[in-house]
Amino acid sequence: MNNHSDALAFYQLLEKIIRALTAQERTETVKAKGYLAEMCKMFRLSKGTTQFYEGINEEAAGQGETLIAYDDGSECKPVMSVRVVTKVRAVVICTVYMRDGVEPLSDDERDKIDLVMRTVLTAVSRNRMQLAIERLAFHDEAGYRNMRAYLRALAKMNEMRQLGSKAAMHFNLRHFSLVNQQIGKSAGDVALRSHYNGLSKMIGDGGTVCRLGGDNFVAICDKSQLEAVLDYLTETPVLYDLTSGRRILIAATAGVFSLPDGFVMRAPGQILDKIVAASYAARTGGKEQIVFYSDTLKQNKERSMRVQQRFPEAMRNEEFHVFYQPKIDIRTGRIIGAEALCRWFRNGEIVAPTDFISVLEETNDICKLDFYMLDHVCADIRRWLDEGREVVRVSVNLSRKHMMDIDLLKNIIDVIDKYEVPHEYVEFELTETTTDVEFRDLKRVVAGLQKAGIYTSVDDFGVGYSSLNLLCDIPWNVLKVDRSFLPVDTDDADSMRTIMFRHVVAMARSLGMECIAEGVETERQVRVLLENGCDLAQGFFFDNPLPVGEFETRLGKSDYPVLS
Ligand code: C2E
Ligand code: MG
Ligand code: MG
Repeated sequence: MNNHSDALAFYQLLEKIIRALTAQERTETVKAKGYLAEMCKMFRLSKGTTQFYEGINEEAAGQGETLIAYDDGSECKPVMSVRVVTKVRAVVICTVYMRDGVEPLSDDERDKIDLVMRTVLTAVSRNRMQLAIERLAFHDEAGYRNMRAYLRALAKMNEMRQLGSKAAMHFNLRHFSLVNQQIGKSAGDVALRSHYNGLSKMIGDGGTVCRLGGDNFVAICDKSQLEAVLDYLTETPVLYDLTSGRRILIAATAGVFSLPDGFVMRAPGQILDKIVAASYAARTGGKEQIVFYSDTLKQNKERSMRVQQRFPEAMRNEEFHVFYQPKIDIRTGRIIGAEALCRWFRNGEIVAPTDFISVLEETNDICKLDFYMLDHVCADIRRWLDEGREVVRVSVNLSRKHMMDIDLLKNIIDVIDKYEVPHEYVEFELTETTTDVEFRDLKRVVAGLQKAGIYTSVDDFGVGYSSLNLLCDIPWNVLKVDRSFLPVDTDDADSMRTIMFRHVVAMARSLGMECIAEGVETERQVRVLLENGCDLAQGFFFDNPLPVGEFETRLGKSDYPVLS
């Protein structure tokens, strides 16, 4: 190469190489390879390589990557090499080769090749650095794409006005802690990864899947893929043992927001808030495994927010009132106890617990409310004792959210003792649990209360995942049979419900527990209780939950109806 037109051709080719190497698109990288091959031919080179090592140690150990720009396949030896160490201590080496017997390179040619090699080195080290940054910024330690990657994907789709054809979702793998228990933590990790890889592959370039932490993920995909994606999330077998090929079924609960046509995002919250709310509804609602974001969901969410915001002020203003629902011995018509139920007086209206208890459970505010209730109940009992009334045992509902609190027992006893209320006047109603961990905590709490002479009862027995372990392994005093076990008017005497009721009562009694039926509404139901050996009842047939003043008039009385 020595004339003017050759030099021009060289610089034109170099310019093309620079353009291709600095462009972002993948197609340009392929082009760059073609130009480099041309360049090699121009200088009679038979091979050109670039080696990349993450550090000097890796270079010494020969652990790196070799990119081959051109190779004509002939036997050749290296004629020039350039090595650079980048700012992040990575090592990049460019080498070109020639066959024996080919006209050697002139000084001018060597200068030009040096220029090309340095250009390539700069581009390669810059691209590698970008990859490293990408890996650090948009992936978590385990290598899953993270929230930042999700936000970037949303922003990009928004920029290209593609969001209107997409569906976004948040999902949580169901009972993944149980999966870990079942197959072990490391197999659990493999399963998690297979699930993620499977979904990523399914969604492809139309969207992305990112992990928020634990077993929580977000994804976005084309609406046309949604059906397949939801099918996958509902339940799919995934590999957890690569050598044996063993698989496990994984199901998720998901909240989906199908973005309206023409959707333009102003802030990511417009999407994230919706999918998180819908996913929460799916996880806690217990009905639908997949919940689509909708206006009713929005209203519920707003209602929850209002309850959470107003709660502290409502506590300060004593807007919560204790209502007492009598418990009756149906053989004598005598009041033998009461359940304290919470009512919220807000702007002249009474709000029922179903409208706020579950909301308060989201933030653990329920624990404050339960202690507020206990405090007021103990104050009332103290007053009744001081007034010389005939006092009955009062039960207070205790949310499961308290179970992790190691100071729970001490705090409870402190409140009761503050009012000098004898412990046998207080009972706590607790509901059944689902997981092993909760079961252990529950057992500890109930045993502790028992030891302190405080009564405990299993509330709503039969609606959750009751197992006989719950009754045998935990020292309860009382079993409250849920009203779903009571026969309704259309049932005959031998209905399944009645038979089960009979057995539950018999079992409770043989375990030495008191047994009370809740939600007793009709005379017929009272009769069923009598016939099946259940002497205690609570329900509208006898009394509603009553304001304290009204309840006081019932104390010491035995004038509830007794069936003959
Ligand atoms: P629960 O502990 O099972 O309370 C019994 C519920 O059944 C009460 O509903 C009561 O009003 C209702 N009930 C009583 N008799 C009848 C009847 O004959 N028929 C029917 N259909 N229902 C009857 P309420 O007061 O709306 O409370 C609902 C739930 O809210 C309670 O269920 C309890 O789990 C929770 N709750 C209420 N107050 C508190 C509280 O202070 N703390 C906690 N953690 N939970 C509470
Ligand atoms: Mg209760
Ligand atoms: Mg109940």
